[in-house]
Amino acid sequence: MMRTLSGIQPTGNLHLGNYLGAIRNWVRMQDEMPGEKLYFLADLHAISMPHVPADLTANTRAMTAALVACGIDTDRSLLFNQARVPAHAELQWLLNGTARMGWLNRMTQWKDKAGKNREGQSVALFGYPVLQAADVLLYQTTHVPVGEDQKQHLELARDIAQKFNNDFASEDAPVFTLPEAITPPQAARIMSLRDGSKKMSKSDPSEMSRIELADDADTVMKKVKKAKTDPEPLPSEAKGLVGRPEALNLVTIYAAVTDKTVDAVLGEFGGEGFGKFKPALGELLVETLRPISTRFNELLGDREALDAILARGASHARELGRPTLDAAYTALGLVR
Ligand code: AMP
Repeated sequence: MMRTLSGIQPTGNLHLGNYLGAIRNWVRMQDEMPGEKLYFLADLHAISMPHVPADLTANTRAMTAALVACGIDTDRSLLFNQARVPAHAELQWLLNGTARMGWLNRMTQWKDKAGKNREGQSVALFGYPVLQAADVLLYQTTHVPVGEDQKQHLELARDIAQKFNNDFASEDAPVFTLPEAITPPQAARIMSLRDGSKKMSKSDPSEMSRIELADDADTVMKKVKKAKTDPEPLPSEAKGLVGRPEALNLVTIYAAVTDKTVDAVLGEFGGEGFGKFKPALGELLVETLRPISTRFNELLGDREALDAILARGASHARELGRPTLDAAYTALGLVR
C-alpha cells in the first residue's frame, strides 16, 4: 500500500507563487499518485523561529482555506494540522532518544538558519528534522515528495527509523517503515511583478508585486497591467528572453497556468508587444483564479467550516497514527 505524506508551513498573504509553485502540485498528486495521500500544516514546526501567535492561528486557517479552494478534496485526502494530532509531538520525543546530536549538527538547514548564532537558537530549530521524522514515521509513510533542500532531512528520518528498529524491535516486526523520497514535478518559480530578479513573496512590502489568492478580478487585471516590463516586443523563442527577467516572468506565468512551455507561448505571442500580451495574461489569470478566490474568500469568512475540516482530518490522522505510536512506546519499555 502506497502512502504519501506532504507538509507545508502555514503562511499568510497566499499568492500566485504559492499556488503555481507548491499548492497546485499537491492538488495534482491526488490524481496522479496511487494510494493514500496525507497533507498537513506544519504549525508545530512554525514555533521553531520567533513568531506572532495570532498570526500563526490566522495563517493556519488561511492555508487551510487556500488548500481546499485550490482543490484538495478532503473526501479523498487527509488534511489536518499537526497541533491537533499530539502524536506528532509525542513521537518526536520518543525519537529524540534515538536521534544523535552529531546527525543533527550536520544538517545543512540547521547550519544555514542558525548561522553564527547557534547558542541563541531554539532547541526546536535544532530538533526540527526529528519532528519531521516523527511526521513521516507516525503513519508508516512509504513515499515523501521532497525538493533538493529536504532530501537530507528525509535521509535522517530513514536513519532514525533504521536505528530505532535495530535497537528496539525484532527484525521480523519493525516498528517503522523506511520512507522513500520521490521527486515532485518541477514547479514554476514565480518572480515579483515589480522586480524580475526577486521571488514573488508574502513579505514584499508592495502588494503590487504579487497576485494574491484573495484578489478580485479587477485587482488581478490591474496588477498584471501595471507589472514592470520593457519596451521590446516578445521574442519568438525562449533564448530571446535572456536579460529580460520581467518579460520572462510574465511568459513563465502564462506557460505555467496553461501547462505549456515558454517556447510554445512565444510561438503564439512572439512579435507582439505587452499591450497585447498583458491583457491576455490578465484574462487568463482572472479566469483561472476566479473559482479559487471565490471559494477562498468564502472559507476565510467561515471559521467554523475551516475548523470542522481540520478537526475531521485530525480525528482520522489520530486513528491512523495510534498503532505506530503505541508500538513505539511499547518497544521502548514505557508503561502507560
Ligand atoms: P513560503 O510561505 O514562502 O514558505 O512558501 C510556501 C510554499 O510556496 C513553499 O513550498 C514555496 O516553495 C512556495 N513558493 C513561495 N513563493 C514562491 C514563488 N514565488 N514561486 C514559486 N513557489 C513559491
